Amino acid sequence: MMSETHYDVVVIGAGPVGCVAALAMKQIGLSTAVLEVQSEKSEISDGRTLALSWNSYLILNRLNIWSSNEEKFPISRIQISDRGHFGQSIVSASDVQLPKLGFVVRFKDLLPRLRKQLSQQQVKTLFEASANSIERYKDHSKITLDINGTSSEITTRLVVMADGGQSLNIAGLKFKKTVEYGHDAIVGIITSDSKPSDMAYERFTNSGPIALLPRGNEYAFVWSVPSTESVDLLNQPESRFLDAFQHAFGDRCGRFTSIREKKSYSLATRIAEQPSDGGTVIIGNASQALHPIAAQGLNLGLRDAWDLAEVCGAIKNEHLASRDTVNKFRKKRRWDRLQTTLFSTGLNRLFSSKLSSIFGARGLGLLGLDLVPLAKKLIIRQLIFGPKL
Ligand SMILES: Cc1cc2nc3c(=O)[nH]c(=O)nc-3n(C[C@H](O)[C@H](O)[C@H](O)COP(=O)(O)OP(=O)(O)OC[C@H]3O[C@@H](n4cnc5c(N)ncnc54)[C@H](O)[C@@H]3O)c2cc1C
Repeated sequence: MMSETHYDVVVIGAGPVGCVAALAMKQIGLSTAVLEVQSEKSEISDGRTLALSWNSYLILNRLNIWSSNEEKFPISRIQISDRGHFGQSIVSASDVQLPKLGFVVRFKDLLPRLRKQLSQQQVKTLFEASANSIERYKDHSKITLDINGTSSEITTRLVVMADGGQSLNIAGLKFKKTVEYGHDAIVGIITSDSKPSDMAYERFTNSGPIALLPRGNEYAFVWSVPSTESVDLLNQPESRFLDAFQHAFGDRCGRFTSIREKKSYSLATRIAEQPSDGGTVIIGNASQALHPIAAQGLNLGLRDAWDLAEVCGAIKNEHLASRDTVNKFRKKRRWDRLQTTLFSTGLNRLFSSKLSSIFGARGLGLLGLDLVPLAKKLIIRQLIFGPKL
C-alpha cells in the first residue's frame, strides 16, 4: 500500500550531520522529516572519539543539543610533532583568542543524544526506513522508501542527502574522486602512568599519524597503520599492543599501561559530485569523506548543515526546490570544503612521504608555524571556523 506525506525538507540519514541539519531546519520553522535505515533501538557500537572544534560546540549549543558533561573534556592545546625528526609546534586556544580549541566527544554518546533530540523537537523521524529512489518534479521531489519491507512515498521541496555517501546513486550522483590510502585507523582508549591534561597530541610516525585526545584520566587514540598490519595489531594481546604503540608514539605521555575498545576503520578520501539541478543538496560525509588525520570530517559536516539552514532561512519556502537555492548553498560552502579537504589530504601526503628532502621541509614547517604566529593563527581559525572569520 502506498501513502504520501509532504514536507519542506526531507533529510536522508540520521547520522550526526543529518540530525543537526534536521534540527537546524526545525529551528527556522521548516516542516522536516528524517529517514534512517538503522533501527531506533540499534546499539551504537561505534568506537570513534571525536575532536569537536569550538565552532562545532557553538553550533550544537545554539541548537540546544550540547551537553555540559562534554565540557569536562576540553582541548586547550595541541602538540604537533614528527617522531624521530626535529621540529614541533604547540597550538593553543590563546593563539586564536578562544576559551578552548574544542572538546573530546565519543561518537556513541553524541549520536543517541542527537537522535533523542529529534523526537523531543518533534521532527518526524522514520527509523528502519531506507530511501530507495528519488524522482524530481518541477517544484518537489518524490522519495520512495522501504519501511520494514513495505513501500511508501514521501514528497518534499528539498532533499538533503546526509547518508554518509552510502546511497548517492539514488540522487543520480557518484563519487568523482576516491583516494584509498591502504591504511586503517585503529581507534581505542588507552591509559598511561602520566595524567592527561588539556593537551591533545598529533604525532607523525613512520607507520602513520597518531592522535591522542585527552579524556579525563585516559586518552582516546587514532593510529593510522598500513592495512596489512592492522588485523595483526588488533589481535595482539594487550602487552604486545601496548609495546607497539609505545614504540610508535614514544614517551611524551609516559608509559602506556592499559588499552581497551580497539576497533579499526579503513581510510579513504571520497569527494562526491555536487547536484547541479534544483531540489537536492548533499552534506557531511556524503559530500566529502576525509582522512581523519586533521579531525575535520564531522566539524566540516556540521558547518555544511548550519550553512544550509542559513541559506534556507533566508528564502521563501516555495523557493526551496529551485536551482538557485542549491547554487547559493554550493557557493557558500565552496571555499570551506575545498580548503579543509586540501588541508586534510595535503597534511597526510606531507607526513607520509618517505623522501628525505621532505623530512627537512616538514620539520621547518612545524618550526615555522611557531615562528610566524599570524600564519599559525590563520590556519587554526580556518580549521575551526572555515573561511569566514
Ligand atoms: C577513525 C575516525 C576518526 C574520526 N575523528 C574525527 C574527529 O576527531 N573530528 C571530526 O570532525 N571528524 C572525525 N571523523 C569523521 C566523522 O566521524 C565523520 O565525518 C562523521 O561521522 C560523518 O557523519 P555523517 O552524518 O555525514 O555520516 P554518517 O555518520 O555515515 O551517517 C549517515 C547515516 O545515513 C544512513 N543512511 C545511509 N543511506 C541511507 C538511506 N538510503 N536511507 C536512509 N538512511 C540512510 C546511515 O545508516 C547513517 O546513519 C573521524 C572518522 C574516523 C573514521
